Amino acid sequence: MTAMSSWEKKREQMVEEQLIPRGITDEATLRAMRTVPRHLFVDDAMGSCAYGDHPLPIGAGQTISQPYIVALMTQALQLKGHERVLEIGTGSGYQAAVLSRICDRVYTIERIDSLLVRARKIFDRLHYHNITSRLDDGTEGWPAEAPFEAIIVTAGGPSMPQPLIDQLTDPGRMIIPVGDQYLQELKLLEKIDGQTTVRTIEHVRFVNLVGAHGWTS
Ligand code: SAH
Repeated sequence: MTAMSSWEKKREQMVEEQLIPRGITDEATLRAMRTVPRHLFVDDAMGSCAYGDHPLPIGAGQTISQPYIVALMTQALQLKGHERVLEIGTGSGYQAAVLSRICDRVYTIERIDSLLVRARKIFDRLHYHNITSRLDDGTEGWPAEAPFEAIIVTAGGPSMPQPLIDQLTDPGRMIIPVGDQYLQELKLLEKIDGQTTVRTIEHVRFVNLVGAHGWTS
């Protein structure tokens, strides 16, 4: 048996203390959270607090979500492995990396160039080759690659962008924070047999979703 590295120990502790007690039970989600080296996605200076129970700044006024929120949003998508997933808001790249360990392919869109460049370097370093990324306004979706079995929006908007709802398969699931610029409800939209249902699963605080179908700044 090989000894666990100290990073692996930190991840195991994160799973045992922050995720399982709060109701994260999906095995694929827990496995991905145990696997992806979150410390590589935060600035070197903050590596030691990468596995703490909080969000962290990632530059350009943006943040990487708390581990629990990443796990909660991932679990809500109920991925089985065959899916093509669209993410809006690449940021550090961590959420995309977690998804990429569970589904077939991740398409992720970021509007800030410096963040996208940095995230791409980490995907390459980790050989996470099933992530495709693009610099754009993600509120328009990714029409050339649509439809997607699952869509995850990791920035908070005033409403659900219609292009994203249109680019979901049937059946399909979308998770998105919706509210004002300070507090949002994490909404899960499910499309089944042409009907969509929406429920709120948590109260959250995300940075702004900025774009044609989001906030203006
Ligand atoms: N998923 C990220 C969280 C990043 S924070 C992670 O794991 O680190 C939210 C990100 O959404 C920010 O980087 C912000 O620039 C980006 N964003 C906001 N509006 C956007 C839009 N319309 N299209 C694409 N990215 C957007």
